[in-house]
Amino acid sequence: MTDSGEPLVVLDGVNKHFGDLHVLQDINLTVRRGEVVVVIGPSGSGKSTLCRAINRLETIDSGTITIDGKVLPEEGKELAQLRSDVGMVFQSFNLFAHKTVLDNVTLGPIKVRKINKAKAVERARELLKRVGVDAQERKFPAQMSGGQQQRVAIARSLAMDPKVMLFDEPTSALDPEMINEVLDVMAALAKEGMTMVVVTHEMGFARRAADRVVFMADGQIVEENTPEEFFTNPRSDRAKDFLSKIL
Ligand code: ADP
Ligand code: MG
Repeated sequence: MTDSGEPLVVLDGVNKHFGDLHVLQDINLTVRRGEVVVVIGPSGSGKSTLCRAINRLETIDSGTITIDGKVLPEEGKELAQLRSDVGMVFQSFNLFAHKTVLDNVTLGPIKVRKINKAKAVERARELLKRVGVDAQERKFPAQMSGGQQQRVAIARSLAMDPKVMLFDEPTSALDPEMINEVLDVMAALAKEGMTMVVVTHEMGFARRAADRVVFMADGQIVEENTPEEFFTNPRSDRAKDFLSKIL
């Protein structure tokens, strides 16, 4: 547990509408440095919108989102800087299809972080090794399995040295036999102290890697607790109902 870490991501009174739909309803959430927060909840409850708001891929209507002490602005140069502090891995792997694995991982650091090519390649190889796909660096995404592609996507995010990593159902599009190879990489990252927000239906991962489980339903955070407490003793009817369907 990392109760002592300082707040790294803070959502304060965040609201978001899509037309009449109040998709984020007064969300208050603090993620501390080194903490792993797993977000679970029924489909349509606003989990992806929450992640996208933290990365400012979605605007918010009211409230503030603070990353490492700086309020996320609406736009501008400072937004680009703050956004690059937030790595994101999606359900669909989102690699550049026409670039090799190595180029996928070095592109951001070279273009955005202005790191020289040799350094970027060296670091990319380190990261590819860490996620277990270093032998594939010359391949194109389509020549790899889904699990390998997702691990490259994780390496690509890490190459930007993010302060926090967001994962939005990173294993939902994978064949079952590839789920664990991705979850193992994520669990190792968590163990190394990476601050993470993970939306997942993998309850085994939540139990083993989460410091805290956040349960969302209908645009609200209904319940927050340690995984032990949440899974053995859910307090709300919504959480009890959800758990009875998935466990
Ligand atoms: P979850 O990830 O928990 O399944 P989402 O955040 O994707 O939920 O979606 C929450 C709700 O917002 C859903 O009802 C979804 O249909 C709606 N929604 C998501 N994105 C948009 C959008 N761009 N425009 C309109 N409605 C959206
Ligand atoms: Mg979603």
